[in-house]
Amino acid sequence: FLFINNEWHESCRGGKIPVYNPATGKLLCEVEEADNEDVDKAVRSARAAFEMGSLWRSMDASDRGQLLTRLADLVERDRLLLATLEALDSGKVFLMAYFVDLMATIKTLRYYGGWADKIHGKTIPVDGEYFTYTRHEPIGVCGQIIPWNFPVMMFAWKIAPALCCGNTVVIKPAEQTPLSALHMAALIKEAGFPPGVVNVVPGYGQTAGCAISHHMDIDKVAFTGSTAVGKLIQKAAGDSNLKRVTLELGGKNPNIVFADCDLEYAVEQAHSGLFFNQGQCCLAGSRVFVEEPIYKEFVRRSVEKAKSKVLGNPLLPGVDQGPQIDQKQFDKIMELIESGKREGATLECGGAVWGHPGLFIQPTVFSNVTDDMRIAKEEIFGPVQQIMCFRSVHEVIQRANTTHYGLAAGVFTSDIDKALTVSSALQAGMVWVNCYNAMSAQCPFGGFKMSGNGRELGEYALQEYTEVKAVTIKISQKNS
Ligand code: ADP
Repeated sequence: FLFINNEWHESCRGGKIPVYNPATGKLLCEVEEADNEDVDKAVRSARAAFEMGSLWRSMDASDRGQLLTRLADLVERDRLLLATLEALDSGKVFLMAYFVDLMATIKTLRYYGGWADKIHGKTIPVDGEYFTYTRHEPIGVCGQIIPWNFPVMMFAWKIAPALCCGNTVVIKPAEQTPLSALHMAALIKEAGFPPGVVNVVPGYGQTAGCAISHHMDIDKVAFTGSTAVGKLIQKAAGDSNLKRVTLELGGKNPNIVFADCDLEYAVEQAHSGLFFNQGQCCLAGSRVFVEEPIYKEFVRRSVEKAKSKVLGNPLLPGVDQGPQIDQKQFDKIMELIESGKREGATLECGGAVWGHPGLFIQPTVFSNVTDDMRIAKEEIFGPVQQIMCFRSVHEVIQRANTTHYGLAAGVFTSDIDKALTVSSALQAGMVWVNCYNAMSAQCPFGGFKMSGNGRELGEYALQEYTEVKAVTIKISQKNS
């Protein structure tokens, strides 16, 4: 069902979304499909919840924080169920869902629960006849569109800062993975959020997604997904009501390994930095630049690691790679692997389908990759690692930055000067030194260049969910 105004609704037009288990190809269930009219209904409910004087608008900010904290407690209570839904619905490894995704979900909700009553304006010294102060007010109704690779974590990343600042939300999970979002909706009601504050509308991008991005009564849209769709969202905002837009898009992230690093550790980090979540991460370190003296050994050990991966049913312990999300992504990955072979990269291992049924791809490593190959330029979003060779600091900085993307980057070295020089020069929103994928709710997340606009998480995200109002009052000089 659709979750609107704290009630469960059938879709106006009666559409249904089939939900599949990508590990078996079997139908799990069907959920109601939101279309334009349902999005309108959800927006009306979010708008009513945002009216001045509403329960939500007049609530003490610390009570708002308390609701988020209560939601975090409920997620913790249902952690096993939510992790199981994630594994079934998205094919991600259950233990990863339980420990990584759900942990991040809980921590994000708690973190923003803590911020709710600490969002302050300023008093500003102006001409003595006036008194000026600022208020950091909620923007209004926020449309949020999220992808399928981290369904429940993305849900928390999106709603937590929005609610903490006092906005109301219409959120659309990806059509492939609506289940955890619907369970979160039930928990939102149980936590005691007033009706209309959060509305959950599973639907397709071209219908429900478009309805959100074009909506005249949505004040802000936050999107995570592909760069191609990110452009459409920004355009839709321009074509409609110039709603505020934040975007978290793709990446082709460089991971730079110098010869003076701890080699085994760097191999391991580069491996998990790429293969985590079946390679379906905007953060995937998919261009591994390795300094020439250790190149051959690095490739040898990376291949060994890739070959040792255990594929299979993501619910089983011991399995560390599940299926890709759907046939479209699967075909795209296989096509890029073929292009790598055709363009002359060395296929060190993998490169083929694994098992049947299910959408599994063997962990794949390419060496001798050059910057002009498609596998070095395009986001693959699959278990495919590209390893390139470099010879100097200057060269590798140039090459790492030669991309339209700018999301994340890694540097492995024991030389502090090199670490500082390279991390300053890289055009990326996050740079990890001697680690990869090290994230926390407190740390801002987002990209340079075509990897997006704005930041999620941390204190920085509060700016993306507030409008600054300057109030200036004339002081009449009564006693002079
Ligand atoms: P991917 O290619 O990885 O599936 P997308 O960018 O297509 O990523 O999808 C991310 C989210 O954007 C999903 O919730 C999807 O339904 C939504 N979406 C897709 N196309 C559009 C669109 N034209 N307008 C708004 N949302 C869209």
